[in-house]
Amino acid sequence: MSNTDTTSINMAEIFGSNVFNDSVMRTVLPKAIYKSLRKTIEDGISLDAQVAEVVASAMKDWAIAKGATHFTHWFQPMTGVTAEKHDSFISPTPDGRVILEFSGKELIKGEPDASSFPSGGLRATFEARGYTAWDCTSPAFVKDGSLFIPTAFASYTGEALDKKTPLLRSMDAINRQAMRVLKLIGNTSTSRVVTTVGPEQEYFLIDQKLFEERKDLILTGRTLFGAKPPKGQDLEDHYFGQIKDRIAAYMTDLDIELWKLGVSAKTKHNEVAPAQHELAPIFTTTNIATDHNQLTMETMKKVALRHGLVCLLHEKPFAGVNGSGKHNNWSMGTDDGQNLLEPGKTPHDNTQFLLILSAVIRAVDVYADLLRVSAASPGNDHRLGANEAPPAIISIFLGDQLTDILEQIEKSGNALTSKSGGFLELGTASLPSLPKDSTDRNRTSPFAFTGNKFEFRMVGSSQSIAQCNFTLNTAVAEILCEIADRLEKASDIDAEISAIILEIIKNHKRVIFNGNGYSSEWVEEAARRGLPNITTTVDAIAAINAEKNKALMAKHGVLSYIEMESRTEIQYEIYTKTINIEGLTAVEIAKRQILPAVINYKADLASSIGAIESIDGDVSVEKELFSKVNISMKSLSANIAKLEKAIDTAANLHGDTKAQAEAYRDLVFKAMGEVRADADLLETIVDADYWPLPTYSDLLFKV
Ligand code: ADP
Ligand code: MG
Repeated sequence: MSNTDTTSINMAEIFGSNVFNDSVMRTVLPKAIYKSLRKTIEDGISLDAQVAEVVASAMKDWAIAKGATHFTHWFQPMTGVTAEKHDSFISPTPDGRVILEFSGKELIKGEPDASSFPSGGLRATFEARGYTAWDCTSPAFVKDGSLFIPTAFASYTGEALDKKTPLLRSMDAINRQAMRVLKLIGNTSTSRVVTTVGPEQEYFLIDQKLFEERKDLILTGRTLFGAKPPKGQDLEDHYFGQIKDRIAAYMTDLDIELWKLGVSAKTKHNEVAPAQHELAPIFTTTNIATDHNQLTMETMKKVALRHGLVCLLHEKPFAGVNGSGKHNNWSMGTDDGQNLLEPGKTPHDNTQFLLILSAVIRAVDVYADLLRVSAASPGNDHRLGANEAPPAIISIFLGDQLTDILEQIEKSGNALTSKSGGFLELGTASLPSLPKDSTDRNRTSPFAFTGNKFEFRMVGSSQSIAQCNFTLNTAVAEILCEIADRLEKASDIDAEISAIILEIIKNHKRVIFNGNGYSSEWVEEAARRGLPNITTTVDAIAAINAEKNKALMAKHGVLSYIEMESRTEIQYEIYTKTINIEGLTAVEIAKRQILPAVINYKADLASSIGAIESIDGDVSVEKELFSKVNISMKSLSANIAKLEKAIDTAANLHGDTKAQAEAYRDLVFKAMGEVRADADLLETIVDADYWPLPTYSDLLFKV
């Protein structure tokens, strides 16, 4: 289906129709089995083999009825994308027929070869065994004829080789520590704390035919060449603009596919850059939100092709117009329905809120480097610090109301009032007066309080949100642990809570910044405050290997020292490989497409100069153009040679992954920029008919 007529869509029937969710389980599982499985999902009680057998069989019957012929363990290796390997349900019988089988063992455990996934030295290829383990907290689903079972992925020796394992461990950690604190401050109604996440996903859609003419987009996801078009995002006419029919049809299809998978796609709109859009789901628990975000990215790409479009998830597909990010909205919820970051009407006297808020503030300041690296990627290096995305400096926006409360506490030990928003009068009786929020928004802050949650706005559009969330969960767990340790020893709990909040305000107010994060003044101010400003991925990676951060992760059982060290290696390797591919692609396009096109143009220009000269002596215009083309062409050729040499030098730096990544950044990435500058200049002077690549105007406006 692909039309914009949504009148016939039965949303309630579609939603979750391909998901083995709670209501399906309740219908198809015997009562005792259902109860036992719920206990595993909710309390982590280990699953009985017999129960697994019954669940597997019910899952198989349900999946086959939905058209599935295969099952796959679905996992999230360190590549940042998901992996799957499909097995059919068939099992031969002695009489030459088949029966359809799916055992409890097959549900719970898989054994993919681990040697072909990034492991950062954790396993050599001769020790290739790896395991996937069923994550029953994220529901299984049917997609493309297979039953997908969300799983964690580990090595033979039990080290995590994926993004899900530390995320699940971090959810346990923050639950443990938050529960200690809540009990100590007298909360008797809560028995479990979960973190909740709603990621807003930005993306570009371009025409598939044009995409296929660009080797850079095909191989690297971004344009390595392209002069600035006459029109970019200057008129600010795209953000929230009317959605074109073709795009609307895509969005409708996308929503339906996501709803079937139980992804609660909610909001869709045009974004700032031409051809850029956004989708936001309704928030859910961190683990499911992470799985759903992976499904969202995959589905975005798949559905695009049905519409003759290609979805670009790269952080910076086009130079000179905004790139794409992912706003990770994060909060803490309880099983009795509280949002622990909900300030209420009078936050100044909401002790529980102020304590949790303080914990987040301290966590973000102390572990700023770890949060920074959780959003670091070669693609995101183009955004962070450019005037479109938050700076590379981690700071917190709290807004007027909370900042005022913290200032009151700092001055006098406690806060007596909460500023309220009042009403907005629009100056005519025909419009309603609107209740105003207690605080304005700030689009420039990397970590902004937005009413009852924090929005971590640094994450790149193509990244898995697992790392930023297990980092946040663990950092906050650690501070809650410190708080619980103190409260356990305190004789006067209320006095100790006040002391803790006051101390945190004093020690960490440096990380709070409500001003313009895009300004150069902030960069200077942040330096004065001693806040780290880590501008590149290669520099950010060191944080994973820092003793304080390894100790944090090990203490809470999220990642061991060895696992952290392997992840350091993996991040350097990913950087190196990405820039290597980009460099080689740039060479290929420049050498085999751009340079030949310029040579052809130059040759034709030369022969027309000869031809015209015999008729009309004045060929000054042609000669001037010839000379311009000639100069840039020579420079291009020299810079291609320089880039090739840079790639060679960097590629030969084996052995030291850090030094190699640095060389790719300092030599290769830089040389790519020089090649591009020549090529982009040539694009503006060479006859358009000769130019071998679709231009930015084509890509951004012919959708
Ligand atoms: P905006 O662009 O105005 O920030 P959106 O509606 O596009 O807002 O996205 C906000 C996101 O925050 C949604 O995914 C929403 O579900 C999510 N969200 C709302 N409340 C919470 C919460 N308590 N925890 C986590 N995410 C939340
Ligand atoms: Mg939004």
